[in-house]
Amino acid sequence: MTKRAPLCNLTSRTATEGMPDQPTRLEQKFMQVSKVSFGLDVRFMVFSGTLEKWEKDLAHDTAELFVRIVERVRALDPVHTRKWFDDLVVARLDAGILEVACPNEAAAQFLEDNCLSVFTQAAQHATGHLVAIRFVVNQAAGATPSLAVDPSAVRLHPDYTFESFVVGPCNRLAHASCIAVSHSPGNTYNPLFVYGAVGLGKTHLLHAVCHGVRKDTPDIRIQFLSCEEFVNRFITAIEQGLLAEFQSQFRTVDVLVIDDVQFLSEREQSQEEFFHTFNAIYNNHRQIILTADCAPGEIPAIEERLISRFKWGLVARLDAPSYETRVAIVQKKARLRGIDIGDEVAEYIAGKVIANIRELEGALTIIYATAQAAGEPINLQLARQALGRQQAETRKGVSITEIIDAVTRFYDVRLADLQSKRRSQSIALPRQVCMYLARNLTRHSLEEIGGHLGGRDHSTVLHAYGKIDELRRTDPQTRGQIDQLIAAIRPE
Ligand code: ADP
Ligand code: MG
Repeated sequence: MTKRAPLCNLTSRTATEGMPDQPTRLEQKFMQVSKVSFGLDVRFMVFSGTLEKWEKDLAHDTAELFVRIVERVRALDPVHTRKWFDDLVVARLDAGILEVACPNEAAAQFLEDNCLSVFTQAAQHATGHLVAIRFVVNQAAGATPSLAVDPSAVRLHPDYTFESFVVGPCNRLAHASCIAVSHSPGNTYNPLFVYGAVGLGKTHLLHAVCHGVRKDTPDIRIQFLSCEEFVNRFITAIEQGLLAEFQSQFRTVDVLVIDDVQFLSEREQSQEEFFHTFNAIYNNHRQIILTADCAPGEIPAIEERLISRFKWGLVARLDAPSYETRVAIVQKKARLRGIDIGDEVAEYIAGKVIANIRELEGALTIIYATAQAAGEPINLQLARQALGRQQAETRKGVSITEIIDAVTRFYDVRLADLQSKRRSQSIALPRQVCMYLARNLTRHSLEEIGGHLGGRDHSTVLHAYGKIDELRRTDPQTRGQIDQLIAAIRPE
């Protein structure tokens, strides 16, 4: 087992018959001061040297105890609960510390970052004692211990793997190229540049590549960071006179992964440094993987020589998922979290949340939390209730054609005008309203909506949506028009 130290446990006094295991006043004071002054979480343990009686009582069935703990965690924190929590086991219960064995480093890291306090709470509830939790890596289960001591060890999200990534027409190319790179870093697409709007899976794919690369070559040296972090570390290196260290740290890795490179925009000195980093890694035939929220050429205020390098390998775009892909994603996310939802609910969520996959997950969480709070199973009625008000605006049965009919009648324009390239306000506004309503009232993807309106791309539809959404909130006249249109499209 590799030990981790999530918090500071102190043993303060010897167990005495009849003495409470709650902290004494002095101990409480010490805990408070440590927290306030040093941000340190201190817990006091009653020193026994041998197992406490209650530990002995529980020790014979830690499996059953742990099932109760996980159940409580599930109820307290559905957002972070995962199906694989069922695979966690108790490694040891001793001196007030419950060691939980995790299948790998990423899982242990995830738990430590997100779930320490909820597990502690649940364990204290289940045992009735002041238990502390420690997550340890179960090396017997195939962990990669070398990474734990690697100073540049990458914190990979255990959820973000290729297995949990749903492939559809919107992301097929990006997914396939990431798989290719993960099998043979430095030898296929270099650099690999993945771009797409927020919440479409860029970061997920980056983690998945790193998981894959690591699986094949556990001691491969990966630097994986956001562009913002790269810039910050560069600035700190300059300030502290540690530029040479910074450069050797980045220029000698096997795989450099930088998320959201659009952050380089307008940062000239960082661009210069990044340019040399890129060249060094590329010339060493090592792998570079980058993401951005737009295509290389669309990143504002960035040097031409960087743009051209970004395009040297493969540039893959992520689009918003279609309805079918969204249903599959919801189902996969539910399985991953051990949530039981039927097809009907998955379809309902996918029909309601359209542009962003992160929001799909959010909707699933709200539904799950509502069901937990009500003590009811998840069904369509509960899902509708949970997702609330907006439900009225997204319903089966409205087609884009119906929307276009209503809009052309309302604004007295022709479909041909909407599909044309004309940009006059009298045409642009109805066109944007069409896009807004289609996104709100139908299950079509941004591409599909753009396709109905003269083959416009997803970013145009997204822009239109944002604009009308803003107007609807700020301009009473537009709000009135949209309300009338919705009433006309769906009389009720
Ligand atoms: P981005 O980096 O593009 O903003 P993320 O990678 O953070 O987006 O993805 C947002 C959320 O959506 C994550 O929880 C991720 O797991 C999920 N997600 C995105 N695309 C997919 C997909 N194709 N299959 C499963 N989950 C996905
Ligand atoms: Mg991201």
